[in-house]
Amino acid sequence: MSFVFNNSFARLPARFYVRQHPLPVSAPRLVRLNRALAGELGLDLSWLNSPEGIAVLAGNGVPAGAEPLAMAYAGHQFGGFVPRLGDGRAILLGEVLSPQGVRFDIQLKGSGRTPFSRGGDGRAWLGPVLREYIMGEAMHALDIPSTRALAAVATGDPVYREGELPGAVLTRVARSHVRVGTFEYFAARGDTEALRLLADYVMARHYPEAVQSDRPCLALLEGVIGRQADLIARWLAVGFIHGVMNTDNMSIAGETIDYGPCAFMDAYHPESVYSSIDHGGRYAYGNQPQIAQWNLLRLAECLLPLLDEDQDKAMEAAQSAVDAFPGRFEAARLERFRAKLGLAAALSGDTLLIDDLLQVMVESRADFTNAFRALCDAAAGSDAGFLTEFGDSRAAPEWLRRWRARLQQEPLAADLRASRMRRANPAVIPRNHRVESALAAALEQDLAPLDKLLQVLATPWEDDPRSLPYRSPPQPHEVVHQTFCGT
Ligand code: AMP
Ligand code: MG
Repeated sequence: MSFVFNNSFARLPARFYVRQHPLPVSAPRLVRLNRALAGELGLDLSWLNSPEGIAVLAGNGVPAGAEPLAMAYAGHQFGGFVPRLGDGRAILLGEVLSPQGVRFDIQLKGSGRTPFSRGGDGRAWLGPVLREYIMGEAMHALDIPSTRALAAVATGDPVYREGELPGAVLTRVARSHVRVGTFEYFAARGDTEALRLLADYVMARHYPEAVQSDRPCLALLEGVIGRQADLIARWLAVGFIHGVMNTDNMSIAGETIDYGPCAFMDAYHPESVYSSIDHGGRYAYGNQPQIAQWNLLRLAECLLPLLDEDQDKAMEAAQSAVDAFPGRFEAARLERFRAKLGLAAALSGDTLLIDDLLQVMVESRADFTNAFRALCDAAAGSDAGFLTEFGDSRAAPEWLRRWRARLQQEPLAADLRASRMRRANPAVIPRNHRVESALAAALEQDLAPLDKLLQVLATPWEDDPRSLPYRSPPQPHEVVHQTFCGT
């Protein structure tokens, strides 16, 4: 049985999208199907795996109930406003309801040109498609809200970038594909009616509590701000760098979306940048909270006509909502990093204790993931691994002493603390060199390294011996210095 579509976005007025079918491809071949996700969505695995299912996942067939469309949106890209971006290489097939009644978009990415394609070919190639697959699954396993890949299909058609590359289509599953840039699209046109419809749509779909509020639109803005504060704190807690936090790549539902030149840090440094297109470091690891706030201010500006008839009052409400972001972010960050340090109680010196550890990491070029994971062993009484991460640093043992003194004020028993910390400090992340080598093998038709990587990333909190090779930082010759957006 095909998808059982239950579409809502297609009910919005025609100016929200362009109806557009995916364009056919020559020879679809299923590269990977996400069985776990299919199960969670209650989809029919044998249909997805059938020639008919694969044809749909490649864009060669449009099943009954689908209402394929390319969504309209605008966006600030690296700070500059582009009034019309839209789905230039993606098609929303429709929406499905999970067995729990949660609504998800089913989108094909790389499915051919649309009226939003500008100069692009509307296509994607296998490398970035599989990269997005890996990253979304890793984030999901790390308890970080994210879009996910249902399938990756090779098209049999070449795509021309730096050379000829194998084309592919990703089936993306998201809470929705509404972005900050969707609001910007209508705000830039002065289309207040569309803004109101969009706000109502988003509230009903993602923020039902806002509908009940005295000031629904303000509650919506505050809801988006709260989810972004939590999301960015979760990114920072695992060393994730999104790489292109343009407003068109910021989901209104609070999911991580649009995996392009993203990366996980190995050695900790707040100025880390991997993206080949981020020359100024605008989207560096440590800048992400400020950029999120900047993007949220753009959203707040869009909502001004809906916030209050009196524009001065609207401005005041919008500004104070956005001004609350740093506090909300810092609370979320403290919650994450307290958990990483095994602190259940919240004491006033905790921020300093956390930030001093990060500073020692900078000085020792400690591996972010492994240093925190080794701290779990220190919590269980074994300091050697942690100290090794810091080389001959004298600051590291000193910091451990302060941490132990702080633990005196904790109610938890040591072994319980260590096991809780292992649920806050992953053993495995998708290290860039591992991702690149799995992709390189996949491009040579060897999917075994990709399968193995995905398997290990699915249980990031376990001390599984099979994950050991994936836990080492890169050797000097393996270091990945740059990641690419792959459009
Ligand atoms: P992204 O950098 O993937 O977030 O995309 C930014 C904008 O460029 C969106 O409007 C995309 O739809 C569009 N875009 C990116 N790659 C392509 C492509 N190969 N063909 C057409 N449009 C594209
Ligand atoms: Mg994008």
